Amino acid sequence: MVFSDSIGKLTVITGPSGVGKGSLVKQLLERNKQIWLSVSATTRRPRKGEKDGDHYFFLSHEQFLELVESGGFLEWAKFAGNCYGTPSEPINKQLKGGRAVLLEIELEGARQVRESFPEAFQVFISPPSFEELELRIRGRATDNDEAIRLRMNRAKEELKAQNEFDAVVVNDDLNVAVLELEKLMGLRKNN
Ligand code: ADP
Ligand code: 5GP
Repeated sequence: MVFSDSIGKLTVITGPSGVGKGSLVKQLLERNKQIWLSVSATTRRPRKGEKDGDHYFFLSHEQFLELVESGGFLEWAKFAGNCYGTPSEPINKQLKGGRAVLLEIELEGARQVRESFPEAFQVFISPPSFEELELRIRGRATDNDEAIRLRMNRAKEELKAQNEFDAVVVNDDLNVAVLELEKLMGLRKNN
């Protein structure tokens, strides 16, 4: 059984698009070199500055489907018209090696991980308000109007699911949210 002899700790970060997951994860990784971040596969086109194998493995729909069919994903889901998935082999390897492993994935994927790997610690990142979420996603200026509309619609559904999670962190002040995440992940003691 996959993961049965793992000794590392798996943390899952989920939250609506534009809430600041990427910004939080970047800070976490810079401050805590022991964390290993999973690189997902996606059929989405690279944004400006995104590198294959670094931000994502950018795959065609055919390549993605092949991996789904060969059981290569720990979880996968469709999001705003594209497919996203977590390759399971590297996660297995890192957990066996005792690493702190981090996944940054959307809601359906987090639900799948809850089934297949219930020991994982799952954190939901919430915005201070829905209006602020829209400001952030527009301010990031990486998505066209249609992509923003799809993402905002999806955000409404995702926000309803936050009670399913082990913890909720409101990303109002980024530094405060990073500290809170570190505390929840056992990376720092009380302050
Ligand atoms: P996600 O990865 O969840 O889609 P990003 O990390 O790309 O979100 O953040 C979306 C936008 O919001 C970016 O422009 C980012 O700089 C900004 N942002 C992130 N966290 C905060 C925060 N705490 N306060 C204000 N702006 C933020
Ligand atoms: P983006 O296109 O903005 O990079 O990501 C869109 C959404 O897909 C985000 O909510 C992000 O967390 C999620 N995502 C990224 N990688 C994965 C993955 O491997 N699996 C799942 N289920 N979601 C992912």
